[in-house]
Amino acid sequence: MKLQEADAKTLLVAQGLPVPEWSVAHTAAEARDAADRFLTTGAGKVVIKAQVLVGGRGKAGGVRLADTPDGAAAIAGQILGMDIKGMTVRKVLVGPAADIVKEFYLAALVDRAERRILLMGSAEGGVEIEHMAETNPEAIVRRHAHAQLGLLDFQARELAFAMGLGDHLKAAVAIAKGLVRTMTTYDADLVEINPLAVVRELDASGTEVERLVCLDAKITLDDSALARHPGLEDLRDPDEEAPEDREAREAGLTFIKLDGTIGCMVNGAGLAMTTMDLVKRAGGEPANFLDIGGGARADRVAAAMRIILADPKVNAILVNIFGGITRGDEVARGLIEARAVQERDVPMVVRIVGTNAEEAAALLEAAQFTTAASLDEAAAKAVAASRGAAA
Ligand code: GDP
Ligand code: MN
Repeated sequence: MKLQEADAKTLLVAQGLPVPEWSVAHTAAEARDAADRFLTTGAGKVVIKAQVLVGGRGKAGGVRLADTPDGAAAIAGQILGMDIKGMTVRKVLVGPAADIVKEFYLAALVDRAERRILLMGSAEGGVEIEHMAETNPEAIVRRHAHAQLGLLDFQARELAFAMGLGDHLKAAVAIAKGLVRTMTTYDADLVEINPLAVVRELDASGTEVERLVCLDAKITLDDSALARHPGLEDLRDPDEEAPEDREAREAGLTFIKLDGTIGCMVNGAGLAMTTMDLVKRAGGEPANFLDIGGGARADRVAAAMRIILADPKVNAILVNIFGGITRGDEVARGLIEARAVQERDVPMVVRIVGTNAEEAAALLEAAQFTTAASLDEAAAKAVAASRGAAA
């Protein structure tokens, strides 16, 4: 689950990390009020940032500065409703604009091969790290946190010096360690600060000082661990979840949309992958990965069917069920029910083997479904049906 910048920043603040103040606005008027508050309490300018779950908002025109409340309202009005990489902006973050001296990159992520949290830092912040990893891999500093003890002080210091943050050693060490703590506290799989910025500020006596702050924040949480953090589920942004993803999640289905034309309904992740492979080998393109899970009942089958058919590209469906805990007849009943209410008719090929396969076969035959005995046959029939529909 990806968090919006503002929510990610809330988690960073809870871990004691330095983040400039902010406020979230849903309308230009709210943005004006927020800007007014920051501008009358010392900020020379405010920054207005699109809150959408994609990177590169800056380049897309979704991060802008204003020096008056009216200016902030006008900019918020332009950013709200904007489309950034297919996402509609529904809210903006407003905060005092930072006076940036230099931008760095710092992220903590799970290194699965090493089974540890990996810290990656660079003095070349602000740009896309993937690009830099290709063009200038030496510019990226890496340190693995200790599995039990987290990031050790000497590692954090090494990282900070190697990134060129020797002048801000204490803050850099605290931030690097804080990112690892954020990872473990919330079971995150990525905590990325880009830019981590040295900013110029005036202290209480009016003297210019430099400070290290997290200007942007991106956090993704491990979905499998969300049950351990009930409060974090509230941070899921309903504006950003595709309707089919939400329906799948609520129905307990594992669903990943793909680009092809053949909808696949399968039980078990391994069988779902195999089914996709066989569809490909038969010359077709799967429209999705969909695992209805073990012991799937009729209502879950119906939900899966709705989700598959909601994709206008789908012109054939392949159902492949290996009954273990899942009972074939239950799935067959679900398919029959689903077809009775579905809004769009597309050819469907069904293969059900295992527990109660015979009962399933009898039900499907009575309901005049196209069935297949083997998986190869099912894939071939589904691909032929898809081609026929496309022709
Ligand atoms: P992203 O493009 O989606 O990663 O959004 P960021 O929050 O990282 O902002 C993109 C860029 O906008 C940053 O790299 C900064 O150069 C600039 N930026 C962001 N916030 C501020 C700010 O408060 N003041 C100034 N001057 N620039 C900012
Ligand atoms: Mn950024």
